[in-house]
Amino acid sequence: MASPRHILIVNSRSVHQPVFVVGAPHSGADLIGRALKASPGFHVTIGQPTVLRTVYAFARRPSMHQGRPQAAAAVIRDAFAQGWQVTAHSCLECTRECRAAAGLPPDAVGPCVELRGLSTFGDASPDLIYCAEALTYAFPDARIVQVIRDGRDVVARMLADPVVMGWFRPSFVNVDTEFPNPFFGIESEDDREIWPRLSPAGQCALRWRWSVRLAARLHHNLPADQLKTIRYEDLMSKPDDALAELSRFTGTTVAAAQIRDEARTSRIGARSRRPGPVLGTEDTAQLAQLAGEELRRLGYAS
Ligand SMILES: [Zn+2]
Repeated sequence: MASPRHILIVNSRSVHQPVFVVGAPHSGADLIGRALKASPGFHVTIGQPTVLRTVYAFARRPSMHQGRPQAAAAVIRDAFAQGWQVTAHSCLECTRECRAAAGLPPDAVGPCVELRGLSTFGDASPDLIYCAEALTYAFPDARIVQVIRDGRDVVARMLADPVVMGWFRPSFVNVDTEFPNPFFGIESEDDREIWPRLSPAGQCALRWRWSVRLAARLHHNLPADQLKTIRYEDLMSKPDDALAELSRFTGTTVAAAQIRDEARTSRIGARSRRPGPVLGTEDTAQLAQLAGEELRRLGYAS
């Protein structure tokens, strides 16, 4: 897909090969986003209001942008032109996660990054995944880090997360007016038909399945130096290997402390047989029914 070159200038620096971290909820994209934010030369934003507004516009009303890639790209570039500005107040409106990842106390006023030495822009806002394809159009040299994780673990964690489950409230659900609907993972007429009868686990399963299908599409459309897929399980079991790959891909030494900590905690959790929420038998069966092919393709089926 050819697209005209646009040069985005932020704080008198041209944005070159920005890095975006995407994944289904609870896939570990947030962990990688925080690690990149703590890496030298990186300015990674997490939940700047202008970016979040755009992300949710894309997620909730995909029909607004369908077939209009140029307009969509312009909207995205504008959002980041604002979101990436480094000012004395830059992190003030960011999410708590962004300030924490920058090492700022919750009530601190930014900036969350030093201008000196800043060479790479990036973003790891929640639900950025719904803009992934538009991002590659808005920034033709973008580098995308996609995190995938076993659907059984993702769905179990989504079910336990009130914020994620809040999106399934009737007042938010727009599957009748938006079709296809990536946010709810509804791609076919069949999906739309069965959706109202699905259990919460089934509805989460469709969101996970969509993220896996997106990964396949991105692989098809992007050269290897622009897309890195990281498996959450590899990040936890062999953090040093995964960090080395990530460092090569992003051209920086990715800050490792937090990921190593998380990996250690996850190993201890696994040994103590308390690995976090686990999907029940019925929910596992529903996931296998809806996304069995994706689970198998990724080697997650047992
Ligand atoms: Zn921030």
